[in-house]
Amino acid sequence: MKKQTLLYALIILAFNCAEEKKETPTTLKYVKESHSNAKPNEAVIKHLDLDIVVDFETQVIDGKATYTIESTNASEIVLDTKYLDIISTEADGKPAEFKLEPFNKQLGQALRIPISEDTKQITIHYKTTDKTEALQWLSPQQTADKTNPFLFTQGQAILTRTWIPIQDSPQIRITYNAKVVVPKDLMAVMSAENPKEKSADGVYHFKMKQPISPYLIALAVGDIEYKPVSKRTGVYAEKSMIDKAQAEFIDMEKMVAAAENLYGAYDWDQFDVIVLPPSFPFGGMENPRLTFATPTVIAGDKSLTSLIAHELAHSWSGNLVTNATWDDFWLNEGFTVYFEIRIMEALYGKDRANMIALIGRQDLEEEVEGFKDEPDMTKLKLNLSDKNPDDGMNSIAYDKGYLFLRTLEETVGREKMDAFLKSYFKTNAFSTVTTEGFIDYLNSNLLEPNNITFNVNEWIYQPGIPDNQSIIVSNKFENAENTLQSFLDAKSVDVSKTKDWTTQEWVHFIRNFPETITTDDLARLDTAFNFTNASNSHIAMVWYEQAINHNYHGNGVDQKIEDFLIRVGRRWYVSTLFKAFKKADKVDEALVIYKKSRPNYHSVTANTIDALLGYDGN
Ligand SMILES: [Zn+2]
Repeated sequence: MKKQTLLYALIILAFNCAEEKKETPTTLKYVKESHSNAKPNEAVIKHLDLDIVVDFETQVIDGKATYTIESTNASEIVLDTKYLDIISTEADGKPAEFKLEPFNKQLGQALRIPISEDTKQITIHYKTTDKTEALQWLSPQQTADKTNPFLFTQGQAILTRTWIPIQDSPQIRITYNAKVVVPKDLMAVMSAENPKEKSADGVYHFKMKQPISPYLIALAVGDIEYKPVSKRTGVYAEKSMIDKAQAEFIDMEKMVAAAENLYGAYDWDQFDVIVLPPSFPFGGMENPRLTFATPTVIAGDKSLTSLIAHELAHSWSGNLVTNATWDDFWLNEGFTVYFEIRIMEALYGKDRANMIALIGRQDLEEEVEGFKDEPDMTKLKLNLSDKNPDDGMNSIAYDKGYLFLRTLEETVGREKMDAFLKSYFKTNAFSTVTTEGFIDYLNSNLLEPNNITFNVNEWIYQPGIPDNQSIIVSNKFENAENTLQSFLDAKSVDVSKTKDWTTQEWVHFIRNFPETITTDDLARLDTAFNFTNASNSHIAMVWYEQAINHNYHGNGVDQKIEDFLIRVGRRWYVSTLFKAFKKADKVDEALVIYKKSRPNYHSVTANTIDALLGYDGN
């Protein structure tokens, strides 16, 4: 849309609004969105009391959700549910006849409960079903210790509604208390104040006093223990993982201090990390007070801990200041990548920070290329109506969002940028922001007062990457490229040239293999560096990708790839490898492995790979 047309449209819209205002005098607090059936402007939840029993035998969560609500003359409150068995509902303790709307594949079913203007509380008695998308029930065999079962939830983006009936929109914020009953040799932890020891009877009580969006409600149940790293940071993990986890994340307190130094006090009291079994679909999930993390970040040398910096940064961008809708997801992730890289720079210096940034820049290049037939998907502000919000969870939100903020920083100067971000987090703490709200705030607090022009609209509303982008350079990466070339030219490897390399240099070295690399070259490199048996998951993943790309079958790599895909459920890793199979025209081979690995994947990962390989269960 051209500018003049836009102006005309706005005038019409303003006129229409003025007309309509006679009917609805109040300004609406919640904006329209496509991924929730709730009508929060009419009736909204404010606080949740959750009372549930976790049954590993039947793999069902059974219980009730009681909400304190606020309404404006509404005759009903509408909640989101998906694949739940709704048993009965109450309004202020009295039975209320609920209605479930027809099922929608994306959104699930709207649950309508009649209320009066005096209704203060509603209660829903419900059970989860075997179709639930948030929960992954793991057998003992799928855990590190292999003696007890495990359960974890993943709420983002719109999965909380598959384990709790709720108004599942990021715009809504609630506090919660929970009583959770689990088998007595297991511990339950949530995105809340957590126990540090097992209870004698398997009953746990939780309190989340800061208001959070529903996608951040999280639960994990397993045979886990706690070890502190500092007074306010620590780790939960299974017995065989706990010491490794504590050693790997020993810099957590330093990270929190560095983050506070940049953008203000940590508002959530405690920052703990739970290391989950390897099927966890993400690197990490920023559940408040308790980040959920994949065990694949435990490399033994702290080299992959930028992930922890990332999840910590979400305590400001995402959890404190939240994207209002999933179309604004870049506000959560772009800011978080920027903040993560700033924390890494503060702790480990510019070299390391720039390597991480440059790897993201390369991912972005690939993502933009992958969307060449759908350029709209490369805009920061998306339109995901009729789409799963998961479709927007890619490198555009993360790495284009980052590049926008980095370019902005280089334009305005670091001092002004930091003052701006600090005030942005403070002003908008515990609330949600739309892209348009952010642009207003940016204009009036950074650009206009300093007389700076910046192509904000091009960055946010246009596809691709604007020309004024910051150029990220890394001498270490240039050295890695030159080293690779010298090995290839000499047809021999000098291991002394790589002896102090970090994970990031290795990743760049491997991803930089030329198209013309031969299987002899690959065998020589594998003999020298034993990439096929790398214990560092990121190095292993990029090596396996190259092995698939270049038809390398030495050193038992095929079996290693299969084992990796069966053991690890982290979507980024798994989809990178299955994409490589597809690109190399080896979908049949991929499907043989996928049929074995799929039962170990959380629904988030399985849905992505189903679509990628065209798998429908046969
Ligand atoms: Zn993130």
